[in-house]
Amino acid sequence: MKLLMHTCCAPCSVYCIDSLRKEEIEPTVYWYNPNIHPYIEYKTRRDTLKEYTKSINVEAIFQEEYGLDKFCKNVIGDLENRCMNYCYPIRLEQTAKYAKENGYDTFTTTLLVSPYQNHEGICEVAERIAKNYDLKFLYRDFRIGFREGQAKARELGLYMQKYCGCIFSEESRYLSHNQKMPKLPESFEFLPVKHLINIKKERENKEQYIDLLLEADPSKEMINQYLSIGELFVLTYKDEPVCVSVVTKIDNDIIELKNIVTKENYRGKGYAKKMIKYLVDNYKQKYNKMLVGTTENNIPFYVKQGFDKYEKTIKNYFIDTADEEIKDGDLHCIDMYYYSKDLIKNNEVK
Ligand code: SF4
Repeated sequence: MKLLMHTCCAPCSVYCIDSLRKEEIEPTVYWYNPNIHPYIEYKTRRDTLKEYTKSINVEAIFQEEYGLDKFCKNVIGDLENRCMNYCYPIRLEQTAKYAKENGYDTFTTTLLVSPYQNHEGICEVAERIAKNYDLKFLYRDFRIGFREGQAKARELGLYMQKYCGCIFSEESRYLSHNQKMPKLPESFEFLPVKHLINIKKERENKEQYIDLLLEADPSKEMINQYLSIGELFVLTYKDEPVCVSVVTKIDNDIIELKNIVTKENYRGKGYAKKMIKYLVDNYKQKYNKMLVGTTENNIPFYVKQGFDKYEKTIKNYFIDTADEEIKDGDLHCIDMYYYSKDLIKNNEVK
């Protein structure tokens, strides 16, 4: 099966992609949403999806069309039925057209994840279009994972929109305080979502994390020294440790982030950033400054997290302290650069 998945936004795509991948179906994400207004909202949702699809390595196609004027002209005569008469058909028709022209045999849509959409209506429109284009429509009741997907999107820090998309839905958001919750099919209920990401201080058996810590600091001797006096924090995702860090006290005002490392297959998803934010919140009451020593390659990352004050350079640090040459990507590590973050004045991770 070659599947093209019309995708309305990153948060809705989370559960759909995860559950399809569990079935060993690899979708191609297809962005075509001229129904999202105003432009800043359109751009934010599109760019969030771009970043998210890149981070999870899923193929994504972005069909650009922003059209407030065209959209309004087409729905203004019958606002009540705009979703069924115009908004679902134009998006799914364009998806099917692209699928047909580009060798996909099946299409689906992330609209099927939302209990706020007309689920049966979407299926009706999609089946009709599938017939016209001689394609298969892949139906899944993704609504079962709606809350799980939203919770994961929130944990990942994805932009979460407050309304469906068009300016009329934006208005309804303010007028709908008394509206009932969406109607769900019989015997269908939201399952409680377990907190996916947790961070805690590990007091015992810190040595179990040495293999992971060695990925950021190749000297086992050095790690043992600071591990024995430092505090170790572990971030778990669905109970699996994915990021660890060690912090040591320098004096009554200053602490040092000695090591922070994320498991290879979880990198680039914001876990280290979350860990730093947690550490800052944890230490800001007691300390004024957090130091970090880093290789040249990682300076931009730390500066982005607020370690924007240059402190010092220790010349030949990596040559003097390691038995073998240390590499960070293509870089031969020689000097250690120290930067600091002000915990009192600047406790927000940007
Ligand atoms: S409410 Fe949502 S689905 Fe309906 S027309 Fe507006 S953007 Fe489209």
